[in-house]
Amino acid sequence: MKRTARLIVTEACPRSCSYCCNKQPAGITTAKRCRLGEFSAKGFDEIVITGGEPMLFPERVKKIIDHCNLPTYLYTAFYNESCWDMMRQGYFAGLSYTLHEKFSETDHSRFQWLQADLVMFLKMYSNNFSARLKIHPSIPNDVIVNKALWKRVDRRPFVDNCPLPENEELFILTE
Ligand code: SF4
Repeated sequence: MKRTARLIVTEACPRSCSYCCNKQPAGITTAKRCRLGEFSAKGFDEIVITGGEPMLFPERVKKIIDHCNLPTYLYTAFYNESCWDMMRQGYFAGLSYTLHEKFSETDHSRFQWLQADLVMFLKMYSNNFSARLKIHPSIPNDVIVNKALWKRVDRRPFVDNCPLPENEELFILTE
């Protein structure tokens, strides 16, 4: 089984989801806190970039990925220009995108923008890219999901207490 380092690269987030792992003690007490310079990716096969919202700080995310030099999966709910640039530059082996509760018109626009870019990206850049979509049950059913783009689509309640899979270690990277 692959060894995965799950990296919380920022605890900042513009959202306030009721089920946020960062508010649940179990999600955080298992985490090791360290500076990027102290973190070694040795012994891991891949990294997961998560937060908070990592795409608020794309330059920091780049620095972390360059430091780790391993296949990287991004967990985000905030598609933007930087995310597109990093996808094209090959920073990510995959993307896990989440449609959270309190889904706004702006969230909807960002999601459709991402899907439009994914159509082009998968055709031009990478057939092996792993795009996964998580949908909170409160999201309206009329939100258009292009299922051909996503290797997996999950629409179900989010799990309480944020259990960490056996093959993963959780780190909080400070400055
Ligand atoms: S988007 Fe993620 S990090 Fe932000 S509040 Fe929601 S669950 Fe927490």
